[in-house]
This record gives sequence, structure tokens and C-alpha cells, in this order.
Amino acid sequence: MSFDVQQIRKDFPLLSRTVHGKPLIYFDNANTAQKPRRVIETVDDFYRRHNANVSRAVHTLGEEATSAYEAVRDKLAQFINAKSRDEVIFTSGTTQAINTVAYSYALPRLQPGDEVLVTTMEHHANIVPWQLVAARTGAKVVPAPITQSGELIVEEFIKRLTPRVKLAGVTHVSNVLGTINPVRELAKACRARGIPLLVDGSQAAPHLPIDVQALGCDFYAITGHKLFGPTGTGVLWARRELLDSMPPFFGGGEMIRTVSFDGTTFADVPHKFEAGTPNIAGFIGLGAAIDYVTELGLDRIGAAEHALRDYTNAALKSVPGLRLFGEAKDKAAVFSFLIDGIHAHDLATLLDHEGIAVRSGHHCAHPLMQFYGVPATARASLAFYNTHAEVDAFIAAIAKVRKLLA
Ligand code: PMP
Repeated sequence: MSFDVQQIRKDFPLLSRTVHGKPLIYFDNANTAQKPRRVIETVDDFYRRHNANVSRAVHTLGEEATSAYEAVRDKLAQFINAKSRDEVIFTSGTTQAINTVAYSYALPRLQPGDEVLVTTMEHHANIVPWQLVAARTGAKVVPAPITQSGELIVEEFIKRLTPRVKLAGVTHVSNVLGTINPVRELAKACRARGIPLLVDGSQAAPHLPIDVQALGCDFYAITGHKLFGPTGTGVLWARRELLDSMPPFFGGGEMIRTVSFDGTTFADVPHKFEAGTPNIAGFIGLGAAIDYVTELGLDRIGAAEHALRDYTNAALKSVPGLRLFGEAKDKAAVFSFLIDGIHAHDLATLLDHEGIAVRSGHHCAHPLMQFYGVPATARASLAFYNTHAEVDAFIAAIAKVRKLLA
């Protein structure tokens, strides 16, 4: 089957709208991705026909909601090749997933002088939770350095895996640079030293096939809204033995076995980590998103994105005065850039007038901005539904902005 991008675009209602009278060019996919009709209709159908709370009711609607919701756990387990569905914890996104590991795994273990090793290119979600638990325990968060072209210096990361390090965290794909980190190699080095590795997969899951067992990591975090699913959905995957050893993070309904004022016993994983009413419709919508990308084929998605990446990269490089951040050999279709004499926010605002959505700012990566010595960049992040013609229009719009401002 050929990859007919014009046909695929018809699956995404929002892509046909206009902005400031121009056809929308949506290049902010690393921020959040657009939703295929199948996801929108699945959520709509849930609220119209099946809405009930999960795990609490024996009535028909309750059973329908529970079985649709729990079926998504099986889908996700298969999607990331987890050994068991019980290793798939539903969260509100990557941020909650990483905080769960910080508070349930790291906090009880960290001692004064211990370290959590991360990298300079992490999103704040993979820095700040560790800093919060480090502040309570006297531990430190230590960054492993990167090169100017935005690649992790693997031997420096490995050199920093000293006995003081109790946990390491790395992003699979950088949301700013697009860099794809060599997670297998890092996981192997961590494993050899008995250090658990958490991988922030927010930007990877929409673009690469994920196999947590083959990667060899210990924790993997995913966010649903970048994976063409609803906001407020995500997954923490962890090895069963780690999850069993962790106390719950949130307490409340759904996560207990028995409760009395003499003491409470907890449900088994995954429910031990899923207190309260979850985003039921959202997860059922995420299941539809997984079906959609699986049917499209992650290999075909990857090939389309690689072609877009190479085309955009070459086009941006031909723009005079444009500085590109992130030129790793292995990278996703994410382009952070600045143009001489133009502030990133002005650039994004003027591009918006041309109907083009790019993000400008620090991208929740202050330490990375400090590394490059800039306060902000503009960022174009592409998905499989973007086209070469959109890239041409983007480059033409940049030329127009340069003429106006540079
Ligand atoms: N990590 C990375 C690399 C991200 O790009 C993002 C989202 N921008 C997050 C973490 C935060 O994810 P969430 O939106 O699920 O909180």
C-alpha cells in the first residue's frame, strides 16, 4: 500500500482549517499532535453511548466502560512490547509518569551524596521531579554533557555512572534538537552497574517502534497527546519487580485492597498506582490512536518522516543567516532555529500570520538553552501528515519574514 499523504490528511479534520485566511500548516507536533477522526469519534461515542465509571459498577454500562478501558492496556502493552499488561500504568502523561518514579522509587532510596544522572538535553519533566526529591534527601541531580551538534557524549555519560548514581534518566528523542539517543547502549551500561534507567519516550513513541524489552531500560514514559491521542493520557511502563517494590504515589479509591483505621493494604500493580477516576474516554481514544498508527504502519510513518526531515533540513540550510540547533546524525524531524536579527517570538508570530504554527520559547529545556547561550529558539516539528509543499511554503514564509525584519 502506498503512503498517500493527501488521503491521510483527510483523516485529520483540523488539518483542513485556515488560520488568518491561509491554509493551516501545522508544524508544532512535538508540542501536541492533531487527532485523527477515529480518535475524535471514539471519544464522542464513549460519552454518547457507554459513559460510566470503570471498575465500580456491575451494570452494563460499567462493564462496557471497564472492558473498553482495560482493552487499551493490552493494546499499549503490545505497542511497547511489555512482558505483561500489569507493567502498564496509566498516568496523565509523561510528567505524572516521571513524578511517580521520583516519589515512589527514588525518594525512599536516595541518601545524602547520592546522584541522579540525566543529560543536558532533558525536558524539565525529566529534571525537576528529580530535583524535588533530591532536595528532600540531600542527593544531587547531575547532567551528562552533549556536543555543540546536540549529541549526547556517551562516554561522558558512562563515566558519570559512579556508585553514587542511584538512577539515570534520558530522553529517547529530544523535543528541541530531535536527537535520537542510543538508549540500548546507555541501558546496557546502566544495567552492568545495577543502576536503573528511566527513558522519557514522549517524543519517541509517535515516531519510532518502541520495544521496552529490547531497549533494556527499567522505566519508560509515554504521553498520549503526542501520539495522536487525547490530552491527559500517558503511560508509565516499568519492570514488574520494580513496580512491586515501590509504594503507591497517590492514595485513594481504586488502588486499595482493604482500608481500615488500623491500616490499609494495596491493590496489585497496575491498580496500586492508579488512584481515583481516570481519564476513561481519553484512554479509550488513545486506544483508537494506537490502532490508527499501527494500521498506517510505524515503518511507513518512519519512512515518510525521514523524507520530510531530509527535505526540511536541506531547505533550512539554504536560508541565509539561519542557525540550526541539533544536527545529530540520528534525528527526528524536529528543527530548532534562529535567524540573525529576529527574535524567536517575532518569527513565530509572523509565521502564524502566514498560517504556519511553530513553537517559540525555551521548550521546557532551560539548561539546554543555557548550553547554547540563547533565551529561546523557534521550532518546527513535523509529523507524517505534513507535506513537502508545506515545507516549501514554510521556507517561502521565512524568506518573507527575513525581508521584513532582518
Ligand atoms: N518530555 C519531553 C521530551 C516532552 O517533549 C514533553 C512534552 N513537551 C514532556 C516530557 C512532558 O510531557 P506531558 O505533556 O505528558 O506532561
